[in-house]
Amino acid sequence: MKKEQNQPPKRVNPYTGFLGSILILLLLNGLIMPSLSGNRIVTTDYGTFVEKVDSGLVKEVAIKSNQIYFITQEKDKEITYQTGEANDPQLVDRLLHASSPNDNGKIEFTQIVPRENSPLLDFLLMWILPGLLFYILWRQIGKSLQNRMKSGGNFMSFGNSGAKIYAESDIKTTFADVAGQEEAKEMLAEIVDFLHNPGKYAEIGATLPKGALLVGPPGTGKTLIARAVAGEAKVPFFAISGSEFVQMFVGMGAAKVRDLFKQAGEKAPCIIFIDEIDAIGKRRDTGLGGNDEREQTLNQLLTEMDGFDGRKGVVILAATNRPDSLDKALLRPGRFDRRVQMELPDLEGRKAILEVHLKKVRHGNIDVDLVARATAGSSGAELANIVNEAALRAVRMGRKQITTADLEESVETVIAGAQKKNKILSDDEKKIVAYHEIGHALVAALQTHSAPIHKITIIPRTSGALGYTMQVDRGEQSLLSREDLFNRIVTLTGGRSAEEVMFGIVTTGASNDIEQATKLARAMVTRYGMSDRYDMMELETTSNAYLGGDNSLICSPSTAADLDKEVLHLITSAHEKAKEMIKSHTEIMHRAAAYLTERETITGDEFMKIVEECTAKD
Ligand code: ADP
Ligand code: MG
Ligand code: ZN
Repeated sequence: MKKEQNQPPKRVNPYTGFLGSILILLLLNGLIMPSLSGNRIVTTDYGTFVEKVDSGLVKEVAIKSNQIYFITQEKDKEITYQTGEANDPQLVDRLLHASSPNDNGKIEFTQIVPRENSPLLDFLLMWILPGLLFYILWRQIGKSLQNRMKSGGNFMSFGNSGAKIYAESDIKTTFADVAGQEEAKEMLAEIVDFLHNPGKYAEIGATLPKGALLVGPPGTGKTLIARAVAGEAKVPFFAISGSEFVQMFVGMGAAKVRDLFKQAGEKAPCIIFIDEIDAIGKRRDTGLGGNDEREQTLNQLLTEMDGFDGRKGVVILAATNRPDSLDKALLRPGRFDRRVQMELPDLEGRKAILEVHLKKVRHGNIDVDLVARATAGSSGAELANIVNEAALRAVRMGRKQITTADLEESVETVIAGAQKKNKILSDDEKKIVAYHEIGHALVAALQTHSAPIHKITIIPRTSGALGYTMQVDRGEQSLLSREDLFNRIVTLTGGRSAEEVMFGIVTTGASNDIEQATKLARAMVTRYGMSDRYDMMELETTSNAYLGGDNSLICSPSTAADLDKEVLHLITSAHEKAKEMIKSHTEIMHRAAAYLTERETITGDEFMKIVEECTAKD
């Protein structure tokens, strides 16, 4: 279409009208304010008034609403006075008989108070003007609302379903913005294709799944990929969060669902996206005390999903990180029958995500591989955050672009909190922390199969860590052997072992190590079948795997007690092994700890150099 040549009619700033009326009001106000021809009014008492009258100084008098105003002529000066009206029956007499500086020698009764407002003006001010003002205001608000609706904004509230509807062109997110997650993209691409040419599918008699459920841990890009589907499909996109169905009034949820599907039916082909669907889709309780409101909403959703014709081209996407809590009825074929798994990214995935987000910031040459290796287990959202933190750090350092060091530092910030600049450790404490960290590092270095040391630091962090040893795997391991896990426990006990062997003390510094070592040892026994005693028996189940996981034992109490002994045995043997290692390498301990105390942060290479030098001498 050709572009319109004429200038659009000049739009009046919507607020000039309103401001104008305020201005007029102020002007009018100025007019009606009492002003006694510029004279200042002196307030005085009745006695003075009588005195001035009697001594013949008063020229004019006016009485108005219990006040007496009078003007005197005192030594060439006219003064206006005001006084209260006393109940004085002789007042008129007094005034008639008093002398006055006036030519005729009589006091003049005049209107010295400014004229009264005319009744017409009063009427205008009291009734017409406010009415006018309100009218103008009302018109303006109406107009600006209309404008906003016309220009569309990003979205507008639709019906009373509460869903936000995005027009075809509103969403710019595409599959290119979603890094990794190839399987998910492939599955969803089919849906996009269906929306584009439904005929292809109708010909062969295939119906597409009505709904796809995106499942995965928080921050893996579920919401992002749903928007990307909308961006790719170029059809209207209704987005609503599960909690919005049940938030406001009782009984509204079901009505909202009905509305949503009605609107979507009219707009087909289109996509409905229900984020965090577990808020309404939780398994219905069989027992008493169910949540009626939520169940009604869910029932309505089930009914609606059955009720509409899949060939019309309404596709329902939903996302959740608690798939195991969803009602089974939601998952049966004909409803959310396609499940799209979004997993935490692997090494390649992390690289891809970092690259996507690095595109948005200015950066120099970045060792993406290193950063990706250092962020094992991080979600896409965390990686996005890491890149942003790095950008902020670069700005703080007064640089124009991000470096690898910025990214490394922000990885640590995300893992261990920011550096705590003003936390002062005493020299003794610093020494203990240094030996503790070197203990971890040494034990890790002496074992085969543990990840190389990347960095050791004794700069306190806001998370409470006084120091830490960072290991970065060379690649990614999908399978871990029993030895791998046991070695990890040995490394975790290395810090405490160093304190014991070198100083003969134990400190609180190992609390986090203890927690992690115990978790690992427990998992080895209860979930991975890595103890001789229990063979391949499952002792623990995990629910809510995507939200950290809640473990619950599924064995008899006596087994539980025995199991604890097994876990303890694992940890003790790891601890013994670590102590032995440190005892036989005290020279490395001393040298490396001294070096670390001096530098506060050392690289893995520097540490390994010390280890190699010492072992070469032996
Ligand atoms: P979820 O809905 O799964 O909890 P989001 O879709 O809200 O996670 O993701 C949050 C943010 O994390 C996104 O806006 C995006 O910046 C980033 N992100 C997550 N996964 C990816 C990915 N695969 N590729 C690029 N960015 C991602
Ligand atoms: Mg989300
Ligand atoms: Zn430690």
